[in-house]
Amino acid sequence: MQHLMTSLRCYGIGVKPQTENDIPRLSKLLRIPILWTPGDFAFTYAIPDSIGRSFIGLPAKAKGIDLQFKAFHEFGHILSGHVGDEPEILWYDKLSRDKREIEADAVALIALMPVGSDWQDIRTSRFGVRLYNERLRLYFTYGI
Ligand SMILES: [Zn+2]
Repeated sequence: MQHLMTSLRCYGIGVKPQTENDIPRLSKLLRIPILWTPGDFAFTYAIPDSIGRSFIGLPAKAKGIDLQFKAFHEFGHILSGHVGDEPEILWYDKLSRDKREIEADAVALIALMPVGSDWQDIRTSRFGVRLYNERLRLYFTYGI
């Protein structure tokens, strides 16, 4: 996890709270194009480097904390190295307890609420309160 944290900091994640403006910035920096999709679904299309570039899909109608969490979750898959030997679609599923989904959630939580920043602002909706509680659990369990 420490190695991942170091690599995340190279992209500003865990340094300061990421915002909606950081979504196109990271897309450009990581060279991960965003496909804006109809409907509610978000996903990472993970393609091994030998074949081509991965991309992420985000719901065009999502906004605010919902969009930010989904975007940094999907970037989290890429940054955590969840790209196998075969092309694969990782569907966003907040209820999944798959290890890769948990890791991607952790990256998103750290992106939105780095240690040292004020986490109170996120609690403006039920989803925000849920993320805040998950962030506290991550901090107290792993110290990150
Ligand atoms: Zn995922």
